[in-house]
Amino acid sequence: MKNITILIPAYNEEAIIDQMYERLTAVCAALLNYEFNFLFVNDGSSDGTLDKLKQFKKQDQRVQYIDLSRNFGKEIAMLAGFDHIQGDAAIIIDADLQQPPELFGEMLDWWEAGYDDVYAIRKAREGEKWFKKWASKVYYQLLQKVAKEKVYPQAGDFRLLDKKCIQALTTLREQERYTKGMYGWIGFKKKEIAYVAEPRAAGESKWKFSELVKLALDGITSYSTIPLKIWSIVGFVISLFAFAYLIFELIKTLAFGTETAGYASIIAGILFLGGIQLISLGVIGEYLGRVFIETKERPLYFIQEYSEEEEKQQKSNRDESGAR
Ligand code: UDP
Ligand code: MG
Repeated sequence: MKNITILIPAYNEEAIIDQMYERLTAVCAALLNYEFNFLFVNDGSSDGTLDKLKQFKKQDQRVQYIDLSRNFGKEIAMLAGFDHIQGDAAIIIDADLQQPPELFGEMLDWWEAGYDDVYAIRKAREGEKWFKKWASKVYYQLLQKVAKEKVYPQAGDFRLLDKKCIQALTTLREQERYTKGMYGWIGFKKKEIAYVAEPRAAGESKWKFSELVKLALDGITSYSTIPLKIWSIVGFVISLFAFAYLIFELIKTLAFGTETAGYASIIAGILFLGGIQLISLGVIGEYLGRVFIETKERPLYFIQEYSEEEEKQQKSNRDESGAR
């Protein structure tokens, strides 16, 4: 029987995780041809999420959990999961029930048909503000303009990945992760299916606005270096204008003599160029900051507790005491 790991990153999901677990197990019970594991990654929750996971583990052999040493963010939490997946395929799903587990069956069918990456796109989102919808639409259009690879806008992390894809993803070990971009980058055979996103069943979205902005920047900087190049072009064009203006002034002075007007235009020119220079420095800084972080080559996460390791430990302890 094929082994499928369901990967669930969870950060402060105490309010909903029971419901999630029930729904997961119900859906999986109906899929008779597969053996399921549930791998929860507790991303440094400060509420009772971990206790709930331990409870699940007690009553259900198939549950595994990784408890990270602090909150690392969803991107890293997923990587921690990838590193520990042993199944033939994995399905990533959020803990908040915004994505229907009922899609598993369809995903698995496409996987059996030979696809390696079956991703579900959101059709219409309920319970989301128009600004968030609009911003994400504009953002993905921009991203596609600067990216060489195809960007899959409405495709999130809700997807089935063959072990080939998981293996590939674990080799990409950048700190500033933008996993949505990585799925496209690694390639493999992709299949798109659709679902209607549900509003969060309980609890709150963990993304703060500032974090969304950071993720958006990570997306662009990880996809392309075009923002760096833009400034060479802007600089070139401005120098060209400045040079033309210089010649114009030179001829004017030679022909008509000097006059001491032009104070305002000088100030305007200086401020304009100063602004451009600061922006371009900022863009360089964004990239340099990322280079700095990557060159440190720090481990991406630390594990406080991994349920399977504990089990192995207990087993080997038992074996040892048995041998004595
Ligand atoms: N999540 C996580 N670490 C974080 C933030 C979120 O593991 O630092 C998990 C969260 O528990 C959920 C998933 O990532 O399972 C998606 O988070 P959320 O629903 O808050 O994001 P949204 O659906 O609003 O994009
Ligand atoms: Mg959500």
